[in-house]
Amino acid sequence: MKITRIEPILLNLKLDLSGGAPVPMRGGVPAPNQQSLLVRIDTDEGITGWGEAFALSAGAITHAAIEKMLAPRLIGRDASQIAPLMRETMRGLYSAGRSGPVMSGISGIDIALWDIAGKKAGLPLYKLLGGAAKTSLPAYASLMRYGDPVAVARYTREALDRGYKVIKLHEHTWDNIQASRRAAGEGVPIMVDCTTPWTVNEAIAMSRKLEPLDLMWLEEPIYPPDDHGGLARLRSVSRIPVAAGENVSNVMEFKRLFEIGALDYAQPSITKVGGVSEQRKIFALAETFGVTVVPHSPYFGPGLLASVHVCATVPQPTWVERYYADFELHPFGDTIHVGAKSGEIAVPQVPGVGPVPDEVVIAKLRVA
Ligand SMILES: [Mg+2]
Repeated sequence: MKITRIEPILLNLKLDLSGGAPVPMRGGVPAPNQQSLLVRIDTDEGITGWGEAFALSAGAITHAAIEKMLAPRLIGRDASQIAPLMRETMRGLYSAGRSGPVMSGISGIDIALWDIAGKKAGLPLYKLLGGAAKTSLPAYASLMRYGDPVAVARYTREALDRGYKVIKLHEHTWDNIQASRRAAGEGVPIMVDCTTPWTVNEAIAMSRKLEPLDLMWLEEPIYPPDDHGGLARLRSVSRIPVAAGENVSNVMEFKRLFEIGALDYAQPSITKVGGVSEQRKIFALAETFGVTVVPHSPYFGPGLLASVHVCATVPQPTWVERYYADFELHPFGDTIHVGAKSGEIAVPQVPGVGPVPDEVVIAKLRVA
């Protein structure tokens, strides 16, 4: 089964902010939209696979990496030989980067190849990976950054009303985090993604200050995010568990983090670390170190669902990060949702990774 075409598709998704909903902030400015980078792979057997690569602010660059570096290497190759193909591709391009757009592009392609493998076998991905005892997984509402306690409280209440049992904030001040705790009440797990604001000493001080708010974890508290020794130092004194991993680029880097005891929770991102293939290695490695894996997965289609499949195959408890936002128009419509009572996300049962995107919607949202 030969790969005949690899097409990166960059989408601009507009948030639905009707009804006066507060606008999230990114880098200090309002961010009323999100990018999603889908990867479509066609084969000579008529099977098409869909993947998703990390986009955020690098969508156009990753799009170029897929189109100009990765596609020419892989077109004409056997789509069913995922492990050797990924190995060869990573090895051939390591000098261009073991992280960033190259690895993000490889990740999107790997996910699309697994989608093809599932469709060819007539099995949902989790069955190809060994099966699962779970048909759904608990999701957590990953709120965007608002930098405003009124908005944080509003979205915390709304997410809980919609069925979520666990909340994650992207805030790093006492006022904003306390606003969420007050809105949620005692006992609701709240995670805080700080997005790298502090030095090690500042993070230690903030961890002490935030103790009364009973947080499930502090995520990426230190800049730079690859100060692994700093994370380990924080973890050795922090009563709040430490989480990180979305900016860890590959399985070898996770190994070093585990070896120095830097993490309570590891958060590999399937659209960045090499897709399904590498994500599975990180789960296996983490198990040998006794680290809990809760992947980073605020994605929009195959990136989110591939992560759900891998999580479903793991016997340890984990949670699915679900981007908490409504969109005006979404290529997957309402095919991916969290149960209004259960707070859980279903493991897809169709062959491959999951539902396919609506091509008409793609045409409307596409920017590259
Ligand atoms: Mg994060």
